[in-house]
Amino acid sequence: MKVTVFGIGYVGLVQAAVLASVGHDVMCVDIDEQKIDNLKKGIIPIYEPGLTPLVEETYQNGLLNFTTDAAKGVSHGTIQFIAVGTPPDEDGSADLKYVLAVAETIATYMTDEKIVIDKSTVPVGTADKVAAKIAEVLAKRKQSIPYDVVSNPEFLKEGAAVSDCMKPDRIVVGTENEKSRVAMRELYAPFNRNHDRMIFMDVRSAELTKYAANCMLATKISFMNEMSNLAELLGADIEAVRHGIGSDSRIGYQFIYPGCGYGGSCFPKDVQALVRTANEINYKPALLEAVESVNYAQKQKLFTHLSNHFKGDLAGKTIAIWGLSFKPQTDDMREASSIVLMKALWQAGAIVQAYDPEAMEECQRIFNDNDNLALMGTKESALKGADALVVCTEWSQFRAPDFDLIGNALTTKVIVDGRNLYDPQLLNERGFAYYAIGRGDSV
Ligand code: NAD
Repeated sequence: MKVTVFGIGYVGLVQAAVLASVGHDVMCVDIDEQKIDNLKKGIIPIYEPGLTPLVEETYQNGLLNFTTDAAKGVSHGTIQFIAVGTPPDEDGSADLKYVLAVAETIATYMTDEKIVIDKSTVPVGTADKVAAKIAEVLAKRKQSIPYDVVSNPEFLKEGAAVSDCMKPDRIVVGTENEKSRVAMRELYAPFNRNHDRMIFMDVRSAELTKYAANCMLATKISFMNEMSNLAELLGADIEAVRHGIGSDSRIGYQFIYPGCGYGGSCFPKDVQALVRTANEINYKPALLEAVESVNYAQKQKLFTHLSNHFKGDLAGKTIAIWGLSFKPQTDDMREASSIVLMKALWQAGAIVQAYDPEAMEECQRIFNDNDNLALMGTKESALKGADALVVCTEWSQFRAPDFDLIGNALTTKVIVDGRNLYDPQLLNERGFAYYAIGRGDSV
């Protein structure tokens, strides 16, 4: 099938490459000229396992193409994906300006029937707004061309985006149009062979499904973080509690890790956006507000541990940070706990020496001329002469480090572990002050 994807970010690029890999003819459109130029040269703008070979292969065999020419993009695909960003507006609601700009572009250039798919995460009612925008532009053009707007939210996880798109748990499609339904079945048939993963519903339910999924996951995290705070105050170990509750099959082990707060481009903004949607219809979403405020507080914990250890005097101290991305296997730092920590440290007069396996360029881009940030080439060099080590992201290479080396490199043996990677007793025996999440103050 002929497919156009607008917005070549984490979602758009992965989706486009995966669709091309099964034989669809895909045109990628982005307004970022640099990004499109780089992609044509084989420079992939993001780190995502398995993505580079997939893009290279599909670009070389001609099924994946890149352009900034919107008219070319619109004329290419019968199917037009909108996969642009929906960042939070000032009041927390999803900013739809990029989505509606693409709708306007499609309507401006379309000359034949189109199925427009909202792939971006958008509030309930957005498909109606996209349809209204297309109708408005077509009316101005005095054209009557058929189109349908379908909701098809994306559930990929950064860090596993390619495999999630290749083998999705489910493909949610919101449409009541039979023609679109048939087209969506055909589009996704290669990913739907093992068993039927397609779940059809009305458009508004599909839009809400995406928010409900992310808010449920964020709720699990904030719930565990609240339990971890209680564990800390009550002298219990949250890791034992986690094992204890995860063994209940109604609860399960997945997504109940306590930590230094959730980040990323989705959970924080999607929880806020659903709160905003609820406010607009005069509903007070008490649980979602609590999820958000627990997460906000949790992101301050790493700094609090450091500040308490150094008795409020962090001026002139050097803090080593392992892990900058909001989670492992990605270079994405949007809303990462590391950012909250670094800003608090700089505010307190400390210097940061940081290392991340993939997010160093991104960190450089965000904080390009900050004199109090040194990005180090290895996890070992980040430790040299530092007064403490903080682990912000649970990359696998941080899981079993050489503690003798850490102890020798640091000027004081202090580890703050935002992901509960280490054994408190072992670190205690080796003479470290060790602060984790919900495992007592310092063991
Ligand atoms: P992103 O910021 O990585 O990419 C968005 C891209 O859209 C950018 O390259 C930007 O230049 C481009 N763009 C903006 N306006 C455009 C226009 N008018 N025409 C063409 N391109 C334009 O965003 P992302 O992380 O891929 O997220 C996209 C959407 O998918 C969001 O709504 C997000 O909530 C949702 N989503 C993201 C994830 C994730 O893990 N990142 C997962 C599921 C859903």
